[in-house]
Amino acid sequence: MANQDSTNPSHALFDQFVQAQTCKEVQCTFSELCHHLQVDPRDYQSFYTKLKERLNYWKAKSLWVKLDKRAQHQDYQQGEVCAKNKCLVLGAGPCGLRTAIELALLGAHVVVLEKRDSFSRNNVLHLWPYTIYDLRGLAAKKFYGKFCTGALDHISIRQLQLILLKVSLLLGVEVQTGVEFKGFVEPSGDTGWMAKLFPDNHPAGKFQFDVFISAGGGSFVPYGFKRKELRGKLAIGITCNFINRHTAAEAQVAEISGVARIYNQKFFQDLLTETGIDLENIVYYKDDTHYFVMTAKKKSLLKMGVIKQDFSDAGKLLARVNVDQEALLRYAYDAAQFSTGHCLPDMQFAQNHAGQPDVAMFDFTCMHRAENASLVRERKGKKLLMGLVGDCLVEPFWPLGTGIARGFLAVFDTAWMVRSWGKGRPHMEVLAERESIYQLLSQTTPENTSKKYSTFSIDPATRYQHVNLNSVKAFQNTLILADPPRSRKASAFEVLLKWCQQHTAGYDGVKVKDLNQSWRSGLALCALINTFRPCVIDMSSLEESNAVYNNQLAFNFLERELGIPPIMSASDMSFKGQIDKLSMVHYLTQIHDAFNERTP
Ligand code: FAD
Repeated sequence: MANQDSTNPSHALFDQFVQAQTCKEVQCTFSELCHHLQVDPRDYQSFYTKLKERLNYWKAKSLWVKLDKRAQHQDYQQGEVCAKNKCLVLGAGPCGLRTAIELALLGAHVVVLEKRDSFSRNNVLHLWPYTIYDLRGLAAKKFYGKFCTGALDHISIRQLQLILLKVSLLLGVEVQTGVEFKGFVEPSGDTGWMAKLFPDNHPAGKFQFDVFISAGGGSFVPYGFKRKELRGKLAIGITCNFINRHTAAEAQVAEISGVARIYNQKFFQDLLTETGIDLENIVYYKDDTHYFVMTAKKKSLLKMGVIKQDFSDAGKLLARVNVDQEALLRYAYDAAQFSTGHCLPDMQFAQNHAGQPDVAMFDFTCMHRAENASLVRERKGKKLLMGLVGDCLVEPFWPLGTGIARGFLAVFDTAWMVRSWGKGRPHMEVLAERESIYQLLSQTTPENTSKKYSTFSIDPATRYQHVNLNSVKAFQNTLILADPPRSRKASAFEVLLKWCQQHTAGYDGVKVKDLNQSWRSGLALCALINTFRPCVIDMSSLEESNAVYNNQLAFNFLERELGIPPIMSASDMSFKGQIDKLSMVHYLTQIHDAFNERTP
């Protein structure tokens, strides 16, 4: 609702923008405000300054003070440091939007792509003290008055997205919703890196960028990155949300910031006796909704009829057809009732995006983390810096509430990487530094990060207590595709070349002399495969002149069996000009890693 006291139309629009409660409403009020003030958000470098000048409204002043303070931090160098960079950010989840803000402060042209057109996640995120401090610095309280009032240290995912969306827009970030990233369009002629989108005629498809940051969430991994699977014991998470009517009776009910079985055996035993529900832990937060997240034991889910049939495979176990939705609702309801001492009055499920009771069951048995946080691709002399942030980098275990805390740390580390890229530091060093910092992420806790929140910045040294920016040496990682100093480049490439020569020696028509042209006929790739998998390819049937066939044969095997996508089409590999050396090194490195892992 707009502030009725505002008679100046731009003031009223500003109030509506600040108070907007849906993604659409934020976008519409923002564009009306810009239209009314005649400021063009596409003019991203001076947009914020112009908006400030034209919106002379006392209510906006406290916002400008906060954002100005942030923007004046020395790390951003007055927005000059990345003024030439164009950044595409995939995903308008909290981490994507938080990244976009940092990149805009560095002066970059930033476009965010989001496939959904609404923010609908009620689930509540735990915030570490530094994230609360960080968000206050971005005027979170201005946009959401209830932000972390009193001792509260959490926020719903959608509210957090709304706050960050508003800040992003004010800083000149272009946020495109309802558009899905489908892959890259490689440079050709005069054009640089672009994105393949759905719908395919979307104008953002014309945006050319040199930085790509993926914040696409746990199930999205962009091309070129590999993930490690961290398999633990079976862990089944249940989340549920109930309507919060904000009555006095509801306000009285105490939150549960996390109770685990090992710390309160009696609570869980009583729960089991009274209800038949057997849990490992439970969290209850009061926010826009009454939110519960718990880890349930399989045996009790089977006994209570939530899971119909037992399977050892977690995917099959939790498949939709194997879950009785009504029983799941009852299970979640009873657990919520018991854990709040039956004191929450008139509990009704809140609705999810599909208009259904907001209860869901997730498998946390298998968590993923990316092997690398960054890489560089190069085509036709045009380099693309790629980075991962948020769940896409490391999937969090929700009951521990690490998603945003570690997510934002990775955002800052990534912004630091883009800053170095913008400064023109040698790429190999940029990536090596990023990987060094990435090694710290999973061990980070509220206790071992610096407590001087006021000095936190994108500079890792202000946040991590013991940071070694050189723990990964540029030459250690051949996946890092860049221009290292000559001596380092030589050592990494030579090791790879030697390995290729050793494992292709003795095959007819194969002579590996380098890491690009020698691979054109496809015979060397087939020979490499044959060395490690002798029965897959009949080498005697191959002919050097049949390059497309040979390459396709090798590509198919490598993609199907080892999960390594081809770097170009078989016909490009066979006929087109020079084979790009960096791409080929990347490809061969993946093959090397895959075979070395799989052979004794
Ligand atoms: P996300 O918040 O997952 O955002 C990723 C965004 O990328 C999404 O908006 C998605 O639509 C978009 N996207 C993905 N692929 C594409 C594409 N190809 N093109 C365009 N856009 C794309 N954490 C908790 O601590 N507690 C919880 O209860 C909890 N519940 C969750 C429920 C759901 C359904 C999900 C998905 C996540 C939940 N999380 C929860 C995790 C938490 O939301 C994240 O840790 C946090 O939001 C930070 O994530 P992120 O920004 O990296 O990714």
